[in-house]
Amino acid sequence: MPTEQEKIRNFIDGKFVEPVGNRYLDNIEPATGKPYSRVADSDSADVELAAAAAEKAFPGWSRAPAVERSRILLRIADLIERDLEKLARAESIDTGKPLSLARSLDIPRAASNFRFFATAILHTESEAHITDGIAFNYTLRLPLGVVGLISPWNLPLYLLTWKIAPALACGNTAVAKPSELTPMTASLLCEICREAGLPNGVLNVVQGTGQNVGAAITAHPKIVAISFTGGTVTGRKVAESCAPMFKKVSLELGGKNPNVVFADADLDAAIAGSVRSSFANQGQVCLCGSRVFVERSAYPEFVERFAAAASKLKMGDPLEPTTEQGAIVSSTQLEKVKYYVDLAKQEGGSIALGGSAPDPINERCQNGYFFRPTVITDLPVACRVNREEIFGPVITITPFDSEEEVIGYANDCDYGLASSVWTQNLNRAHRVAEHIHTGTVWVNCWMVRDLRVPFGGMKQSGVGREGGDEALRFFTEPKNVCIAK
Ligand code: NAP
Repeated sequence: MPTEQEKIRNFIDGKFVEPVGNRYLDNIEPATGKPYSRVADSDSADVELAAAAAEKAFPGWSRAPAVERSRILLRIADLIERDLEKLARAESIDTGKPLSLARSLDIPRAASNFRFFATAILHTESEAHITDGIAFNYTLRLPLGVVGLISPWNLPLYLLTWKIAPALACGNTAVAKPSELTPMTASLLCEICREAGLPNGVLNVVQGTGQNVGAAITAHPKIVAISFTGGTVTGRKVAESCAPMFKKVSLELGGKNPNVVFADADLDAAIAGSVRSSFANQGQVCLCGSRVFVERSAYPEFVERFAAAASKLKMGDPLEPTTEQGAIVSSTQLEKVKYYVDLAKQEGGSIALGGSAPDPINERCQNGYFFRPTVITDLPVACRVNREEIFGPVITITPFDSEEEVIGYANDCDYGLASSVWTQNLNRAHRVAEHIHTGTVWVNCWMVRDLRVPFGGMKQSGVGREGGDEALRFFTEPKNVCIAK
């Protein structure tokens, strides 16, 4: 098992192996700004080995009875729960997120991903269609083969397992790549898979950069489908790489999510929910509501109370149990956040809260990548800060006068991932939910998860859906058999 200070190697054909080029990158802890381990800097030669191992494992795994695949995946879920503390600590060190968040959200949800798909494959139904007196058809849903799974740094284990679990449950074998910024939990998962008895080659993890490893996975001719979560710019590159080979592709991309608060909302709940949806994981959740719109009559009270509540979020060393705001994932991401705060000022915005780095947290974290929760008001709806994804602890608040106006504001954006609506008027909730162009609309809540529902984005937030039946369909190929009567 890789531990802190150790090398994080690739996992290919059931073994931890050195990268072919024997190169490593420093793995930086965001809370300290210092390297704490080294991660394999792999390339296409490693992807080649991983794809070959996955190809070799495919016949055995795809033919294994569903109940056998299910048993192994359930065992993986159990072992994730057994190792919760170790995984949560690794996740917190890798990402800078509060340990309490990793412990309560990321790691339990990773276990649920395996449990959900392990049991889903025991309850699928097969379709049959009778064609008058002529024939009957039935549909076989067959695994695809070797699939490529690429995930980002913000929820590393949670998002990677949301791909690995359905892919493997359906009988595929996989070449997976976590972000090079957050490689540790994927490596620990490989240990768990081995202990759970997952056959060699079924899951292979190649560590390294997107440019070297991610691009080699999308370009590999034997990797027949790609499930990708990340930014929209990268998603476009993935789509371009896959299109000439007609690979099946699922793209879960960026967001600039509207959070709409009507004056008739339960303001206590709306403020508490909005603070969470703005600043959870330092605003580095694709579903965070970064554009808050508040009906004008409630606007002054909302801004004042929201800023007061956000100012009380406890920023600290992510490993301290009471910390609520940890570090930004990298110095590059921190610079991006600062750039957008400066841009907001140039675009006419007022800083109602934050806008700068905090005083040093403690000695251990004095060089860490911290930024205070930041609230910006007085910006035009169509400015860059209100249109471009920042992916940090920076939100804008804008007043609106009517339902029609705020629907226009919410939709005036290239992204369409998720939204929240706060109102006690049921008819309005249904109307607004129908007309906001996002893949998910939460009413009087945020980030409530039911694994059965389709998840994904509209417009430039992606193509395809994850979750439940959508994932089972993505990771299988339907084949119709037509038999004459
Ligand atoms: P990213 O830069 O697009 O990277 C995502 C993954 O793609 C990483 O593993 C990255 O590797 C890899 N990659 C980079 N270039 C590649 C290429 N040319 N070909 C194949 N893979 C490549 O995104 P990020 O900065 O890690 O994550 C933040 C973004 O993800 C935000 O835009 C956020 O909204 C989005 N996100 C979306 C969802 C959703 O469900 N829609 C969920 C979470 C996050 P390296 O990092 O190692 O370079």
